[in-house]
Amino acid sequence: MEKVIIIKYGELTLKKKNKNFFLKSLRDNVIHMLKDINHEVYYDFGRMFIYVDENDLEKTVLLLKKVFGIYEIIIGYKAEDRDIENIKRIILNLVEEKEFNSFRVSTKRSDKTYPITSMEVNRIVAGEILKKIPGIHVDIHTPNLTIYIEIRNEEVLFYFDGIKALGGYPVGTLGKGLLMLSGGIDSPVAGYMAIKKGIKIEAIYFESPPHTSEQAKNKVMALARKLAEYNTTVKLHVINFTEIQETILKNIPKDYLITIMRRMMYRISAIVASRSRANVLINGESIGQVASQTLTSMKVINEVVKLPVIRPLACFDKSEIMEVARKIDTYDISILPYEDCCTVFVPTHPVINPVSQKCIEFEALIPWEELIYKAISKHEVIKLEKDYNDNSYDDLL
Ligand code: ATP
Ligand code: MG
Repeated sequence: MEKVIIIKYGELTLKKKNKNFFLKSLRDNVIHMLKDINHEVYYDFGRMFIYVDENDLEKTVLLLKKVFGIYEIIIGYKAEDRDIENIKRIILNLVEEKEFNSFRVSTKRSDKTYPITSMEVNRIVAGEILKKIPGIHVDIHTPNLTIYIEIRNEEVLFYFDGIKALGGYPVGTLGKGLLMLSGGIDSPVAGYMAIKKGIKIEAIYFESPPHTSEQAKNKVMALARKLAEYNTTVKLHVINFTEIQETILKNIPKDYLITIMRRMMYRISAIVASRSRANVLINGESIGQVASQTLTSMKVINEVVKLPVIRPLACFDKSEIMEVARKIDTYDISILPYEDCCTVFVPTHPVINPVSQKCIEFEALIPWEELIYKAISKHEVIKLEKDYNDNSYDDLL
């Protein structure tokens, strides 16, 4: 009997008008994820069906566990002979391997011309199981085992409850966002959460060579590659921030260094975002974590851009952020020791409640517009793909 992977969409099905668009996007994302596996994909409004070689089944399920928009992954069985005797025989075979003491049968008949009603199939199959397996009973409300039978036009499907998947929306269905990606723990997690909501991300990284090393950049690329597992690919914009940072350091009072530096990062990010047709900026800021993440700081820094800034971690504790980082496998990369461009210049007493007017006055001391456009004109773009030799996803099962 042929095995088939059945995918349930969950929340997606609520998006009535855009359903087709959502499903096509999901199908494309699935196809991209399975590009190294020989497979066939079919879908209707209720679910998606994926056929692969039996040997690729396990790997396929693991890969699908990283596709947003999928709520449940089920390995089912397909039979072409829809005769009730065949259905009974198959079910008895399948439940033989299961341990359970209560069960229910749930039949769906999408082919209404099938001569036996769903209720009747439930009754016939349940009767057969009770007859053959001693010591079990039917429990409609809280069974150990639910047996699903689906009678379709040309086939019957059999399955049990599946594996819970990531949920969320298919990547790209909510448009594009630009993630400010540092080498830290927070920003990759923020990126992951934005991707979960259907935002296709591009990333921007500010480096300050020689104050930051090539390894620091490699680390950011490794993080982007991890995010590519969920995002299909990640386009990383690398901005050389050295001249801006050195100019700030020379001309701006120490307590305002970080505030001004971050205003410059925001400005550059907003320009790169609009050139890439990204509608929002995304970053890993979390309220109260450091001086630049007080509400006053956020306000004063945010003032320099018009784009909405999404901060998925705004209300998360560090321990909650770390938990997600471990789950998505970015934690071990993030804790590698290489300096990022903020820590190199971090002053001992940054201002906690910066004032906008002061920022404007200090910024007037440097030719920041010229510096910003110079940095953008030289920016490097790197396209990162998921590392297909990396097998570290098995712990997600
Ligand atoms: P993370 O752990 O993600 O680095 P953090 O706790 O170190 O965050 P900050 O350094 O204050 O916090 O930065 C806040 C956010 O600003 C980061 O989460 C990231 O989104 C962005 N950011 C900081 N440094 C850079 C950088 N060098 N390049 C791109 N984005 C950056
Ligand atoms: Mg940082």
